[in-house]
Amino acid sequence: MYIVQVATELTPVAKEGGLADVIQGLSRELVRAGHTVEIILPKYDCLHKGALQDLRIESPQFVVKRGGGTLSNTLFSARVDRLKVWLIEPQGPEHFFKRRTIYGGADEIERFLYFSQAAVQALLHLGKRPDILHLHDWPTALVALLIEQLPVEARPRGVVLTIHNIHHQGQGGLDLLEKAGIALTEELKHGTEINLLKAGIEHSSQVTTVSPEYLKEMEGAKGGCGLEGVVKKHRSKICGILNGIDADFWNPSSDRYLDFHYTTEQINQGRLPQVLEGKSLVKAQLCQRMGMNPSKEIPLAAAITRLVPQKGPSLLKHALYRTLEQGGQFLLLGASPIPSIQAEFEALQKECLKGTQARIIMETDESLAHQIYAASDLFLIPSLFEPCGLTQLIALRYGSIPVARLTGGLVNTVFDIDTSPLPSAKRNGFTFDDPDTHGVNWALDRDLACYKEKRERWQSLMLQGMRDDWSWKQTTPAYLEVYRRAL
Ligand code: ADP
Repeated sequence: MYIVQVATELTPVAKEGGLADVIQGLSRELVRAGHTVEIILPKYDCLHKGALQDLRIESPQFVVKRGGGTLSNTLFSARVDRLKVWLIEPQGPEHFFKRRTIYGGADEIERFLYFSQAAVQALLHLGKRPDILHLHDWPTALVALLIEQLPVEARPRGVVLTIHNIHHQGQGGLDLLEKAGIALTEELKHGTEINLLKAGIEHSSQVTTVSPEYLKEMEGAKGGCGLEGVVKKHRSKICGILNGIDADFWNPSSDRYLDFHYTTEQINQGRLPQVLEGKSLVKAQLCQRMGMNPSKEIPLAAAITRLVPQKGPSLLKHALYRTLEQGGQFLLLGASPIPSIQAEFEALQKECLKGTQARIIMETDESLAHQIYAASDLFLIPSLFEPCGLTQLIALRYGSIPVARLTGGLVNTVFDIDTSPLPSAKRNGFTFDDPDTHGVNWALDRDLACYKEKRERWQSLMLQGMRDDWSWKQTTPAYLEVYRRAL
């Protein structure tokens, strides 16, 4: 099959969160399975250019018609970890992607509306007719509608939209369409505004979301965020497929960002001491660099997250204090686009620097993220809602035991050691129901106590988590099935 992904993120060149990992991991698994995959991205100024190979201008400029005239674009091609990528760069002063960040800003919707138009024109310009055009979230959802305006022989054979987070829908005033030169349709309108995600759901041949539990939530008034009616109307073409992780990129035995490695093969050969030794070397190196005192006797808890309300920042803060009270250590890697949250965690960061038991790093740093997954013993995910969540899957692979709130994809992936109805061999972490401090304490205290007082049980739980396969190999066949239905 020939699949083109139209996306706004791709690990490691343009990453804001899990979407980037999904585009990378799913695409690489599809390629491994023998399919052809290409990815269309905006050529952001903030791309990590070091990760782009063979970057070149691909063709003469192509033009996109807008409300007030036309705009020329340069089309680049490149490779990212062997994946073929097309990059679109609008010309002239009105350069939509000349920003320091991927998202945000007053013209965010206008920018991605433009990108959707430009992606359609790029396909036409290249004379490409994919079997499947795979769209992701509101920024590219409108492509499903725009593509229908092409002659039948130029359209892709099937269009699939994946909803990674229904909280963000691309809503804005009707004037945005006028600026873009796009006619208003019933499917585009939601209340008094336009809603790009809604248009994508209405016009795509098939729709997926990122976990079975999140699909259930999206059908309800709370989880559907105003689109529950649209979800229910199209329920027969929507399915929930769990995200996976890229088993090469996230691999403790060969991780490009680690100086010390440990492997699942060692576990399978019963060589637990080697695994523990590998983890403790990473921990010692990282803690020393951070100015903390590493110790095999002290559990190191960690969280790696965007600091936004969805991720429960106040619960993370509480978890940090609670871990210290219980004699543990804490590392938090996270940045916030919200000034008040950023300020709150900067204050906490300063407070932590007075001691040696906790550190907060307020950056986006892929390399450090890998080191923290490998060094940590426990991993916190106290999300208020979580469509799938990847950090718990990565943590499990690196032998860090999740403490997770039971919501969305966390319900499908983290199974409590004491309360899960699953057989004990499937249980892999500590969970809680209510997103409050009592919930956090209940799960976190049990994890810390298990580490300190029942080390053998803790180690067998860790090994169990490392053995389980949460890679894209498991879930890509379900995507292929959706693609076949779309065709
Ligand atoms: P979301 O997509 O909602 O942000 P996910 O759990 O699906 O959450 O994916 C988060 C991804 O982003 C993971 O790969 C995680 O390691 C990464 N990540 C989050 N914050 C940071 C950070 N500050 N630095 C590096 N990587 C981060």
